[in-house]
Amino acid sequence: MSVPTLRILVGVKRVVDYAVKVRVKPDHSAVETANLKTSMNPFCELAVEAAVQLRERLGAERVAEVVAASIGPAANQETLRTALAMGADRAVLVSTDNASAAANSPSLESEPLGVARALAAMQSRLNANLIILGKQAIDDDANQTGQLLAGILNWSQATFLSKIEFEEQSDWLQVDREVDEGIERLRLRLPCVLTCDLRLNQPRYVTLPNLMRAKTKPIETRTPSELGVTLNPHWMITRVDEPPSRRQVTMLRNVDELVAKLRQLGVLNRS
Ligand code: AMP
Repeated sequence: MSVPTLRILVGVKRVVDYAVKVRVKPDHSAVETANLKTSMNPFCELAVEAAVQLRERLGAERVAEVVAASIGPAANQETLRTALAMGADRAVLVSTDNASAAANSPSLESEPLGVARALAAMQSRLNANLIILGKQAIDDDANQTGQLLAGILNWSQATFLSKIEFEEQSDWLQVDREVDEGIERLRLRLPCVLTCDLRLNQPRYVTLPNLMRAKTKPIETRTPSELGVTLNPHWMITRVDEPPSRRQVTMLRNVDELVAKLRQLGVLNRS
């Protein structure tokens, strides 16, 4: 039985850094993102790490290449450089600058359907047989791209993964999924789409020498039309509000205090 060589495509999104507190614009039209520190979406870091670890574990003869792709403005090249510094071999930017201007929509790269279509087009160009994504982007919390992509490609999918293992000399994988009830173990076969959850791995730090080395690795730029994809906005944000501020929290020391408090609030009868 011949074991297929892996060509891994990893989707990486640039988002406002998780440590930055975003604020709503005064007119409530959107959140203010201008001039804020941006980074690779943390779940995408897990996806890059998973792909690089697969090559380290299975060897270069089994994993032909790891390609990172990002759909978005030119600034996403920085995110792609991070993926290259982590160990991806090359990167592709699907530039949305012109498409966003034409559609008068600043957030085309946040529409999971358009992103999934662009990644599907990338898959056919690269002949990728394994696609690894984050389970969700922390800016829009959509959690849709992997599922839509698997649907478009008609591939198997396994989401929210905390473990990925290839069976010996095989195109079958065993994965653990984090579900509400615990851990669900699945077997699935290439080609497939995987999405990563927080406990899958510990993404490596990007060191300066690796970042410098990454500057010599290629980043190709493609437009959606070159890939035969039209990125149309399917929704628009009509209003954004800050989450309601938390009510004051009082720490109670024991059950008696809790009962007294509930009586005081009228939640428990006084009798
Ligand atoms: P979402 O469905 O938007 O929550 O995103 C889930 C995952 O899809 C992310 O962790 C990325 O791996 C991938 N993804 C979403 N948007 C993009 C994008 N603009 N470019 C590349 N990958 C993306």
